[in-house]
Amino acid sequence: MEMLSLAEKILTLPPAAPFQWAAIFHKDDINFKHGHHNLEWYDPTSKSTEHQLPCKVRCSFCHSPIMDEGRNMILLFPSLIKFKSDEDKKNFAPR
Ligand SMILES: [Zn+2]
Repeated sequence: MEMLSLAEKILTLPPAAPFQWAAIFHKDDINFKHGHHNLEWYDPTSKSTEHQLPCKVRCSFCHSPIMDEGRNMILLFPSLIKFKSDEDKKNFAPR
């Protein structure tokens, strides 16, 4: 089965489905502390691993999906984020 993008999953959820917790960031607000060498890109439409937007960003080792990269924004699950404190995490709680 082809993996849907997170955005597609959210858009295709039926109204009664449980809320899907995803966070959207401006790319300008993100820095890679250790470079992007452990990441790979994937476009499920063209099956390409070249970096063309929008695309999926995966772990280059185990290919786990990490986030979706758009032109200006990225979308990821907050469950993948290591927060400094519970207080910080609360800022991302669904409202
Ligand atoms: Zn991995």
